Parts: sequence; C-alpha cells; structure tokens
Amino acid sequence: MTNNGYDSDNIFAKILRGEMPAHKIYEDDQTFAFMDIMPRGIGHCLVIPKAPARNILDANTDALASVMKTVQLVAKAVINAFSADGVTIQQFNEPAGGQVVFHLHVHIIPRFDGVRMNPPASQMADQQVLSANADKIMAALTQLQG
Ligand code: 5GP
Repeated sequence: MTNNGYDSDNIFAKILRGEMPAHKIYEDDQTFAFMDIMPRGIGHCLVIPKAPARNILDANTDALASVMKTVQLVAKAVINAFSADGVTIQQFNEPAGGQVVFHLHVHIIPRFDGVRMNPPASQMADQQVLSANADKIMAALTQLQG
C-alpha cells in the first residue's frame, strides 16, 4: 500500500520555505535544485518541484515535466562542471521503493568510468566542499544558459 499523504514538515519543504539551509544551485518558477547533504559521489544534487508532491505517484504532471526539464539542464551542467563520463538519474517512491524524504525529488549523480557510487546516506559531506561544488555547477549552468 502506498501512503499518498504529504507532510509539509518534511525536510525539503523546510528547505523550500527557507527554514533549513541548503546549497542551492538553481531555481525557477516551478523547480529548485540543491546539493545532496550525503552525496553518493562528487556533485550529487537533487531537483524538486516547488509544488507539494509526496512522490511521482501524486505529482501533478506539469510539475513533473518541469522537474525533468530542470533535471536535464542540471545533468548537462554537472557533466561539464566535473568533467564526468556519465550521469546517473535516480528517483525513489515510497519506503519500499527506497524513498526516505517524502517530497518528490530526482537525484543527479555525476559518474566516472570505473568509480562506484557511495552507499546511500553513508557520510555527511563537508559544508565547504558542498559549497565549492555548488559554485562549480552554478558556473556550468551559467555557461549553458549563456
Ligand atoms: P531518497 O528519499 O530518494 O532515498 O533520498 C533522500 C536524499 O536526501 C538522500 O540522498 C539524502 O542524502 C538527502 N538528504 C536527506 N536530508 C537532507 C538534508 O537535510 N539536506 C539535503 N541537502 N539533503 C538531504
């Protein structure tokens, strides 16, 4: 059974309201992107809709489309920012699907030939490293949008 409830006190809702800090990399009318605090690799970031949605099962299709548009943009940016060989896009739904935070989000993880991803939620990143990586992604986004 899925639980379609949206809890507006989830951590990403708090980040959207500015009640919790985050290393923001991108924002538009519908979406927000920021660094994952426990990265599975260098440059791991997340894209979320601004509209409340628990996951892909209850999301408005327009919000979903906006999220994927931002995912494509940020995926290109992380490849450029870190000279990555590829990028892994992940999205989990409900606890059985691996979801831990219940505001729809898409993971963007730069990948390098022969390098494995860290296990999920294995280690908190250094804030300065996250900040420096966010700066690199934002610079790459500026170039792409230029
Ligand atoms: P999922 O719900 O798809 O399994 O993953 C949730 C993701 O959110 C994890 O990769 C985790 O590291 C990340 N995360 C959890 N809490 C926070 C937080 O407070 N800030 C940020 N930036 N990321 C978080």
